[in-house]
Amino acid sequence: MVYIQDILARFISVIRSINLVDVLDMLIMAYLMYKGYKLVRETRAQQLVKGIILLCILYFIIKQLELKIMGFLLENFFQVGIIAIIVMFQPELRRVLEKMGRTNVKNFGVFSSSDSGKSPEASWENAISEICEAAAELSETTTGALIVIERQTRLGEQIATGTVLNCDISSEVLGNIFYPKAPLHDGAVIIRDAKILAAGCFLPKPQKEELINKQLGSRHRAAIGMSEVSDAIVVVVSEETGTVSIAESGELSRGYDKSKLEAFLRSRLIPEKASEDKLDKAKKGLRRWIK
Ligand code: ATP
Ligand code: MG
Repeated sequence: MVYIQDILARFISVIRSINLVDVLDMLIMAYLMYKGYKLVRETRAQQLVKGIILLCILYFIIKQLELKIMGFLLENFFQVGIIAIIVMFQPELRRVLEKMGRTNVKNFGVFSSSDSGKSPEASWENAISEICEAAAELSETTTGALIVIERQTRLGEQIATGTVLNCDISSEVLGNIFYPKAPLHDGAVIIRDAKILAAGCFLPKPQKEELINKQLGSRHRAAIGMSEVSDAIVVVVSEETGTVSIAESGELSRGYDKSKLEAFLRSRLIPEKASEDKLDKAKKGLRRWIK
């Protein structure tokens, strides 16, 4: 009883000593923890975080009960554990850091200027219409295709697995690349700065393959995998059905016709269009709210 009273008295004195700066400190900490949790959610690291929290609770109990051997073991475990965690979860940590690096980037469109003398917007306008033209033709002839459009995340690793072309985009070139008997038809085309940078590139697998619809084969899975580890937009044309799909942020949406695909790519790749769309959405939301 005395023990509980003592804890209660200590708790009250701690509460009394809290000032505005402490509150701010706690709010920032809570926000960072929430953001951290959102980043590791749906990865293997989620279990790890739960494990660490359990160990911390166990350590607290052990300290309160003054169990010396257990306390000694856990303290040593924490010291060595941190290195073990970094080694074991290197891929997850890398993904989390990459995600962090991508957040809060004001402009999610593609701004780099092209060397053709055109403005980036004009280059992307042209690239988008050529990609859509190619996707429609490939869909009609049920020719499989995988087109990765790079944005902020650089895809050097994937480009290194393919053949660098560095040529202007045209529906004819894309058609030639994916022609089933062409040497580069296997794998993905990667587009950077509105140009075809490479073809025949190998893309990463998705993180949770077992959760993906069993009907989706390796091409669609590779598209999902690529969009999980980067902010790239991946356009897929199915060789079996001619269906055009898009993978973005680990999600695959299917059934795009030419105009829907064009509208989508414009909204993602042309900065002005993207901000106009955002503004439109905000206006609509505001109108609905006022009503
Ligand atoms: P489809 O509907 O076109 O048949 P799918 O999702 O069923 O697509 P598969 O039939 O397995 O996929 O397609 C195999 C082709 O997908 C390969 O020949 C290759 O060109 C491409 N592909 C598969 N995996 C990858 C990968 N990891 N990276 C790049 N391309 C890949
Ligand atoms: Mg298939």
